[in-house]
Amino acid sequence: MNYKKAILTIATLGFTYFIVTRVGFTAQQYAYLRKLNPKGRKRFKEFIKAIEDNLGYSVIITSGYRTFEKQQQLKDDGISPVGAGRSFHNYGLAIDINLLKLGQYVKMGSSRQKWLNTGVPQLAEGLGFRWGGDFSGYYDPVHFDLGNDYNINDLEARAYELYGNNPSDIKGNLV
Ligand SMILES: [Zn+2]
Repeated sequence: MNYKKAILTIATLGFTYFIVTRVGFTAQQYAYLRKLNPKGRKRFKEFIKAIEDNLGYSVIITSGYRTFEKQQQLKDDGISPVGAGRSFHNYGLAIDINLLKLGQYVKMGSSRQKWLNTGVPQLAEGLGFRWGGDFSGYYDPVHFDLGNDYNINDLEARAYELYGNNPSDIKGNLV
């Protein structure tokens, strides 16, 4: 194999890999998916694909991985009930989504019944996700996480063990 042909082969393989890892997702979705915890990323991808392919909704991701600092800011601003390290978003193990289908827009302010009518909470349950629409005390229907498989106290302890106590040093999506 000559030099030019080798370069061309490597470039083609690289480009194919680039396309395949992104196939089926919008740039908007991929921007969030790539920052999720590698431990859970595949499951979120499957979940989104299943919503779009089986239920016919387009998925708009509105939140994914959130740093400890950002989480604390949301708590201080009264937007989230929990502070740094206390949300599955802080470990890249949660997403918030809106759903879109032919003029139907399902979002935070939508009723529990409207969400259930989409079939998405039921699909999520079948795939092992927790749904924020079921949370007691804080109705959060846009939220889906892997809280059935990971314990928030364990994740938090592990984060401080790995990165120390300075929130800005913590890479929660790699815990
Ligand atoms: Zn959320």
